[in-house]
Amino acid sequence: MPLTDDQIAEIAELRSTPQPTLRATAPGMEQHLYHAHEVLDHGFVRVIDYMGDDAAIVQAARVSYGAGTKKSRDDSGLIRYLMRHWHSTPFEMCEIKLHVKLPVFVARQWIRHRTANVNEYSARYSILDREFYIPAPDQLAAQSTVNNQGRGEVLTGAEAAQVLEILKTDAGRAYDHYEQMLSQEGQQGLARELARMNLPANIYTQWYWKVDLHNLFHFLRLRADEHAQYEIRVYAETLCKIVADWVPAAYGAFEDYRLGGANLSAKALDCVKRMLKGEAVTQETSGMSKGEWREFEALLGSR
Ligand SMILES: Cc1cc2nc3c(=O)[nH]c(=O)nc-3n(C[C@H](O)[C@H](O)[C@H](O)COP(=O)(O)OP(=O)(O)OC[C@H]3O[C@@H](n4cnc5c(N)ncnc54)[C@H](O)[C@@H]3O)c2cc1C
Repeated sequence: MPLTDDQIAEIAELRSTPQPTLRATAPGMEQHLYHAHEVLDHGFVRVIDYMGDDAAIVQAARVSYGAGTKKSRDDSGLIRYLMRHWHSTPFEMCEIKLHVKLPVFVARQWIRHRTANVNEYSARYSILDREFYIPAPDQLAAQSTVNNQGRGEVLTGAEAAQVLEILKTDAGRAYDHYEQMLSQEGQQGLARELARMNLPANIYTQWYWKVDLHNLFHFLRLRADEHAQYEIRVYAETLCKIVADWVPAAYGAFEDYRLGGANLSAKALDCVKRMLKGEAVTQETSGMSKGEWREFEALLGSR
């Protein structure tokens, strides 16, 4: 369970005491404030705070005194223009602060995004909970034979049962030993900062993560992508829904130009032009490597 009853009550208390403000608020985001969106078996994403809305992006781009233009159509046109032309700094005017609970091996991928501010739960100071990520049966996949960084067919039957058993038993045993090392009867017990080193990477950690919208879009483009590992992708997909409610115009532009769009190399663009003129371009005549050609065909949906 991602949250205890006490934590759920704390959140309800926070949500029941609205405070007046002169700052711009995004109605779509207010509904998300403090709520925990469950991810994986014990994880969550919660919005703790945010700054700015679609109008703040327009306002910064125009360096204006007001809250954007009169017509929302004009605002979204400008936002699309900024996104299309990589004029990124106005998007940095919006910020979001999140509370995320995630397995350590997911945190290792997430932390590589350096353009954010992070504060993580201290396992030197506190004792970690007995919570481990155990994949759902449909995610228990074999190693891919075509992609070294990917998954293949889902394991079934005795093999799946055996893998699940190993994951659960090893995690349980490691946690039993963790507790044992922390509190040896009649003795001092090992320091928390040392006892934790024996815990597996599927144990859950938590952090506060603050990032501006430009860098969040960069994170989402990489981690909501179908090539990202499933366990981080589900967090990114949850965030995509939140951002779509927060800054609908900016998210719409991001979805169109970045998430759903594609970059073409000069060679690929040349091939598209030749194809449009009716030429039957092949990998051999494209000037592209086999790998590039495979990805190009997949992009055009011709494979
Ligand atoms: C599918 C996938 C597979 C991956 N596989 C691996 C892997 O096998 N091994 C591995 O180590 N990593 C791997 N990564 C991580 C990847 O290399 C990046 O570290 C990660 O995606 C963060 O991207 P970033 O550096 O652009 O983001 P951020 O750290 O948020 O940086 C954003 C941008 O700011 C600039 N920037 C930030 N810090 C610096 C700096 N110190 N110097 C110069 N420019 C900076 C860069 O332009 C950067 O693109 C993988 C990522 C993905 C999505």
